[in-house]
Amino acid sequence: MMEDELRKIVGDRWVITDNEKILYSFDGFTAVSGNPSMVVLPGNEEEAIEVFRLLISKERKFIVRGSGTSLSGATIPLNGEVVISMSRLNKVYGIQGLEIEVGPGIANIMVTRNSPQDLFYAPDPSSYIVSSIGGNISHDSGGIHVIKYGPTFNSVVSVKVILPNGKVEYFNSSPFFNPTSIFIGAEGTLGAVLRARLKLFPKPKARKTIIGIFSTVEDASEAVINIFKSGVIPSALEMMDKYSVEVVEKSKYKAGLPISNVLLIELDGNEDDVKEEYEKIISVIKNLEGEYMTPEDDGKYWNARKGAFPAMGVISPAYLTLDCNVPRKDLPEIMNKVGKISKEKGVMIANVFHAGDGNLHPLIPYDPEDKDSLRRAIQAGSEITELAILMGGVPSGEHGIGTEKVKFLEKYYSETDMEVMDRLRKTFDPKGLLNPCKSIIKNKCAPENQVVKWLWEWD
Ligand SMILES: Cc1cc2nc3c(=O)[nH]c(=O)nc-3n(C[C@H](O)[C@H](O)[C@H](O)COP(=O)(O)OP(=O)(O)OC[C@H]3O[C@@H](n4cnc5c(N)ncnc54)[C@H](O)[C@@H]3O)c2cc1C
Repeated sequence: MMEDELRKIVGDRWVITDNEKILYSFDGFTAVSGNPSMVVLPGNEEEAIEVFRLLISKERKFIVRGSGTSLSGATIPLNGEVVISMSRLNKVYGIQGLEIEVGPGIANIMVTRNSPQDLFYAPDPSSYIVSSIGGNISHDSGGIHVIKYGPTFNSVVSVKVILPNGKVEYFNSSPFFNPTSIFIGAEGTLGAVLRARLKLFPKPKARKTIIGIFSTVEDASEAVINIFKSGVIPSALEMMDKYSVEVVEKSKYKAGLPISNVLLIELDGNEDDVKEEYEKIISVIKNLEGEYMTPEDDGKYWNARKGAFPAMGVISPAYLTLDCNVPRKDLPEIMNKVGKISKEKGVMIANVFHAGDGNLHPLIPYDPEDKDSLRRAIQAGSEITELAILMGGVPSGEHGIGTEKVKFLEKYYSETDMEVMDRLRKTFDPKGLLNPCKSIIKNKCAPENQVVKWLWEWD
């Protein structure tokens, strides 16, 4: 039996077939859950390769999982797939110059912690304490430092992958048909990342945080545009509207932020540049009649920003986290429209997001015991994402397509785009074994789950 063979490879303890499987039936997108037939946790690269080869030889469908924090439901076993957790593959293989090689299960935060004192790994999703490098690569995750250092894409040098035909290969970056790039954002559909070589950056000599405080969310959005017009590219530029500040200040992440619309702005570089940029930012804030704080001890404010999603738990047991991007110039307009959709649909919407790259994260609380409340939250979310696409934006900035955003692909991509991506997926995985029914799927699966039906079929 396959289960016995798997137990032989990884040891009894690391194959889960009892009730504990439920922990792997959902991820950060809690509106939908599935039912894995089995969960396997290989302990090292050799075991992982054996496990994959066994499943491939038996033509079993499976999902590769990191830490399960996906906010788009990319790891949900919708049809009883086997789940392979890569979290035990968390080794650091070596550091050479400005590069570090790690296993896919290592938590993002541990990459910097294992790097030389004067270097750091730049992509930092707010989930950085738990989310894994394999997951970060497969969703091309962003974070607060995207505007200056780019998303995960910009920090991956090469990957070692086991492909759906069972072969293990190294893919290196190249300027032509960059083969590493296709695994970034592939959501576990083209293979499983076994190792990644990542770029490290030198730590900046100087850093400064400024907190801009504005009476309206439109003014805060206008400030974002004016900061770029002033010629400054901050290392972080985050917005929290007054609803999200109110929630955070009721939670364990409270920092003493004023209950208002705030921009958290970070500058980094050498001392002189930071001083000059600081003056420009202050003048942008003053011109919009905003107020500001320049805390020396800024850690608690950034912690408040990074804790803003989980803080929502204070007011609601569940919420949707949207993830569309709009051009920065349209931020005031879309923020205004999001407010209108909130009123029309009778749902609360708190906004906390990466304003510097126009990546919105409207948070829409719902009552998981009340299907109608979830339905309205999904409908409001759908309207916002479609609006973003109409305004020239994209349906996902950093959380991926997963289960959640399948329907938006056809609205965003052309038929040719879809055809090319579908062909790429089939070339790697002709039998459709890896992460079926997720991400780029030309012919959608027929979902049985009511919530998935709402997500995919609503118009
Ligand atoms: C509180 C909170 C805050 C967050 N903040 C941010 C943020 O600021 N920015 C951001 O971008 N995201 C954020 N996220 C979303 C999430 O943390 C990221 O998408 C993260 O990269 C997922 O990593 P993971 O290890 O949990 O991956 P998982 O959720 O386990 O998997 C995600 C995808 O990666 C694939 N995958 C995982 N490991 C591998 C592998 N080794 N090989 C191939 N495929 C693999 C899976 O199949 C799946 O498709 C946040 C989530 C939470 C809960």
